[in-house]
Amino acid sequence: MAPSAISMSTPSSPAADLEAISDAVDEVNVLKNQTMTAYDTTSAFDSTKDKTQFRQYTTATARVQDFYYEQHAKQTVAYNLAARVRFNSDSRIRKELSVWEALERLNALTDPSDPDTSLSQIQHALQTAEAIRRDGKPRWMQAAGLIHDLGKLMLEFGLAEGQWDVVGDSFPVGCPFDDSVIFHEAFALNPDDKNPVYSSGSGIYESGCGIENLLMSWGHDEFLYLIVKDQSTLPPEALAMIRYHSFYAWHREGAYRHFMAEKDCATLNAVQAFSPYDLYSKSDEPPEVEELKVGLDSLYRIVYDC
Ligand code: FE
Ligand code: FE
Repeated sequence: MAPSAISMSTPSSPAADLEAISDAVDEVNVLKNQTMTAYDTTSAFDSTKDKTQFRQYTTATARVQDFYYEQHAKQTVAYNLAARVRFNSDSRIRKELSVWEALERLNALTDPSDPDTSLSQIQHALQTAEAIRRDGKPRWMQAAGLIHDLGKLMLEFGLAEGQWDVVGDSFPVGCPFDDSVIFHEAFALNPDDKNPVYSSGSGIYESGCGIENLLMSWGHDEFLYLIVKDQSTLPPEALAMIRYHSFYAWHREGAYRHFMAEKDCATLNAVQAFSPYDLYSKSDEPPEVEELKVGLDSLYRIVYDC
């Protein structure tokens, strides 16, 4: 998609729509997790909350459902391989940005007039990193928190076709779709679901092959991972946090565990350690962006393959 189409954030623009669907996906993941306590315990989380948010949840669910029906129908092995060929093409443009420049470009995807958009991308990035910092976690994890969603710029760089291959929960393709993936019934629309190889047993994989060998659905997690694995000194745990932060079926629901190799226990542990900071820091006070910007601008540089 042309940058000029992205930079003008209007309520009906693809950029604003992407921001809205990304927020709604996160909101549903938070709410979904809140239903995991025993059914007969007294709820406490809602004692101070504005109950009008339930209408927003209903609206978000409808929007998220439409989004996931499209995502599940189109995330095929064939598309995944084509997207990776496009990513690895020699003709791609390499664009160098500082992390702050990348955050500001990502922030341009936010439409402040959109009533469903509560946080900008910069605010979410800073809140995630700040929550990690306040808990005394290592600096590499703070850096992972800061950059974990920068892959969403793939929309601006023409490496995505729409929202459905940028945001949303991720899952492997080439093997049976697990029932724990959100809106899993929509996989009936995916031609791979009827492919005799992909839809039975372990599909194109073998048990114990290792999570890193799964073809993860194409989106911002995988895109940023492919970039930072070759361009950073982040440890494997940070790369795992970036690559699998949307793989809820695995790190929260316990699916796809039969593909894990021995070392994936550490991978899973890292992703699970990161997830709360991504999901729940959104309820914190909005960060002072200009204050936190000081010193950050020159700290990291990143090269996008686009
Ligand atoms: Fe994300
Ligand atoms: Fe995030």
